[in-house]
Amino acid sequence: MTTMDRANRLTALLAERELDALLVTNLVNVRWLTGFTGSNGLALVNADPAHPQRLFLTDFRYLTQSAEQLDAGWRREIAPEILPAAAKALNAGDGVTLRLGFDDASLSVKDHGTLAGRLAEGVELVAAGGVVEQLRLVKDAGELGKIRAAAKLADAALTEVLGRGLVGRTERDVALDLEVTMRKAGAEAASFAPIVAAGEHSALPHAVPRDVAIPAGTLVTIDWGAQLDGYASDCTRTYATGELDPRDREIYEVVLRAQEISLAAVRAGAGGREVDAVAREIITAAGHGEHFGHGLGHGVGAEVHEGPRLSQRSDSTLATGQVVTVEPGVYVPGAVGVRIEDLAVVTDDGCEVLTGLPKHLQTIA
Ligand code: ZN
Ligand code: ZN
Repeated sequence: MTTMDRANRLTALLAERELDALLVTNLVNVRWLTGFTGSNGLALVNADPAHPQRLFLTDFRYLTQSAEQLDAGWRREIAPEILPAAAKALNAGDGVTLRLGFDDASLSVKDHGTLAGRLAEGVELVAAGGVVEQLRLVKDAGELGKIRAAAKLADAALTEVLGRGLVGRTERDVALDLEVTMRKAGAEAASFAPIVAAGEHSALPHAVPRDVAIPAGTLVTIDWGAQLDGYASDCTRTYATGELDPRDREIYEVVLRAQEISLAAVRAGAGGREVDAVAREIITAAGHGEHFGHGLGHGVGAEVHEGPRLSQRSDSTLATGQVVTVEPGVYVPGAVGVRIEDLAVVTDDGCEVLTGLPKHLQTIA
């Protein structure tokens, strides 16, 4: 899908939302919409399909880069201050109100003030966060190819890092090794700072790797992903580092069962709350309901955390082409934690799992 196709879909959505134009300032959305990857840029798109306005603004530093990255359908302007320049491009006409949507989840109060102070009479600012995000929910074939490639790179990187062993290395060393291995394999970055957490530290769902050596005979949770070509991957595996306490093995089996059965419930038409409930029921029945305090999963794409949500509070209905994680966990404070996470593309009658690593309990010494 070209960036002009995306702009045209956005135009159609603006009419539905009763907006006359949308100012796109969140840089992830700007990149998705225009292809521009720089650190300062915005896009202005109107709602009139008969007279499409496709304005892109950046500053002098990105003169050459933006010319290379933008489709010819975008009118490109270079300005020292892009928000006032965007304000100048809008005119309401006599006695007419023009409803200009802005992203209230990303535009700062300061920038909102700058913008409001420069708008022509009759142009009204309307909070309209999440419009581009709504279009980003379903991925096209090109996007799916990029997410698949990111997942494959991340799988290969972990396999390589595990080959160097876990026991005796610090959590921090393993996390850094994983990050460097992904970068060397071509990733733009890790999609987030990798989590490596052993023993009782793994009971923290978002543990920060410590300068502490990983002992034998415990569980180690590793949560990581690669950012490749503008798209993220996300995966978690938990490994044994030797003979386990039966309690740890039992928790692992509960999480694995919850993960496999809830993953099998992912398909177009299923509710985010409904799929979450499948995993939650299994974990609750095993006596660990209160140890599973987060949602089952989230969407992944240009951002590692995006819609739709799989959780107790989700009102999402899954659709073909969405990419979601399925990641139940059990965290027993002061004792141990297990999380198993796969990345999957929603299809009409199920899902395509993008994670290629095995899930049965493996021992890595
Ligand atoms: Zn993750
Ligand atoms: Zn995740």
